[in-house]
Amino acid sequence: MLMDVGLLPIGEISGRQVGVGSKRQRCDGCDEEIAIGEPEVELTFFGTLVVHLHPHCAELYEAELRRRGVPRSD
Ligand SMILES: [Zn+2]
Repeated sequence: MLMDVGLLPIGEISGRQVGVGSKRQRCDGCDEEIAIGEPEVELTFFGTLVVHLHPHCAELYEAELRRRGVPRSD
């Protein structure tokens, strides 16, 4: 899978919501579509910036943030 963390915000996650895709939406991690009804994770950065990810992409992304020493806020 493609995971270019350079395109994603590097910072503390201020919010996390797990839901299901409700519209045709691209995953910000791998650029594949998150289908309607598929699980998706929404991570909020800096209070307002929302990143939409597949659960497995969110896991990789958060692992990468931890590797870079970004603290977890949840
Ligand atoms: Zn993805």
